[in-house]
Amino acid sequence: TEPLLAVRDLAVTFATKDGPVRAVDSLSFDVHRGRTLGIVGESGSGKSVTSMAVMGLHTAAEVSGSIALEGRELAGLTERELSRLRGRRMAMVFQDPLSSLHPYYTVGEQIAEHHRVHVGSGRAAARRRAVEMLAEVGIPEPERRAGEYPHQFSGGMRQRVMIAMALVCEPDLLIADEPTTALDVTVQAQILELLARLQEERSLAVVLITHDLGVVARVAHEVLVMYGGRAAEQAPVEALFAAPAHPYTRGLLDSLPRLDDADDAPLRAIPGSPPSLLTPTPGCAFAPRCPRAAAADWADRERCTRHRPRLVASGGHTVACHLPLGPATAPGAPGHPRS
Ligand code: SF4
Ligand code: MG
Repeated sequence: TEPLLAVRDLAVTFATKDGPVRAVDSLSFDVHRGRTLGIVGESGSGKSVTSMAVMGLHTAAEVSGSIALEGRELAGLTERELSRLRGRRMAMVFQDPLSSLHPYYTVGEQIAEHHRVHVGSGRAAARRRAVEMLAEVGIPEPERRAGEYPHQFSGGMRQRVMIAMALVCEPDLLIADEPTTALDVTVQAQILELLARLQEERSLAVVLITHDLGVVARVAHEVLVMYGGRAAEQAPVEALFAAPAHPYTRGLLDSLPRLDDADDAPLRAIPGSPPSLLTPTPGCAFAPRCPRAAAADWADRERCTRHRPRLVASGGHTVACHLPLGPATAPGAPGHPRS
């Protein structure tokens, strides 16, 4: 079937005072109805830039490639047309709900206003929809709480309000950018559960952006791992956790906390820092941090540092690496990837 969202050869370049920065390059992916794509990477990997490009929110950047929603190209659309799509067909939830909610209007008014503007409903109907939506996202006493202001909600409840606002116009595509990063672990789990439920009930196509593979394991069907603005690896979630093919994915998996860890066990972060997008190297962006390249012989190491690996399909994964890992090197899978 045709994907709801199809992105092909996306590149996003920003002009900075130090020169052009290509934040995203050669990126392609599909998202289908009723499926969740997890986009994972460190900060600066290009994952948020990608979501903003899909939403048409990069007014200051040069965007090339194709972004198609149900076969309709978004690239040539006017700001007015894009704004209409953003209201009705695609919606976004961010890490910090407070920055997207107006402090001086009640949450009910804000959700109702969104519905009025984009669906053209009358005041009473919009108000009713707002209360229904608050109930649907699990806010107790929705009638009463609709009359409260954002600061009267806890962080988790505020994120529920944002999800209600995002879904009130029945979009087909939901982009959630680090929706649970600011929340404590218990609340995080509840919000992820809510997103998974709504996604299933509404057959939403969801793009979930996160730095945390643990989050991906809980809600994603497919995973795209980004590094330095490009795809490092793409695979169904079970395949990725069972046998990561890219050394960076392997590093992310190894840095997840495990069940048998002592409470005070140190986090196993990947040593080194993300690549500079201002001065990209001709080779693999991960080469300076890659244990596999470091252990390789001279000729292989040369290839890693001089030639950028191309994305190649292999065994259900698509991976950009000269020396991909085989299934034999798989670590134990943490958590329970969603099937
Ligand atoms: Fe490591 Fe080389 Fe693969 Fe890059 S191409 S991830 S440096 S092994
Ligand atoms: Mg971000």
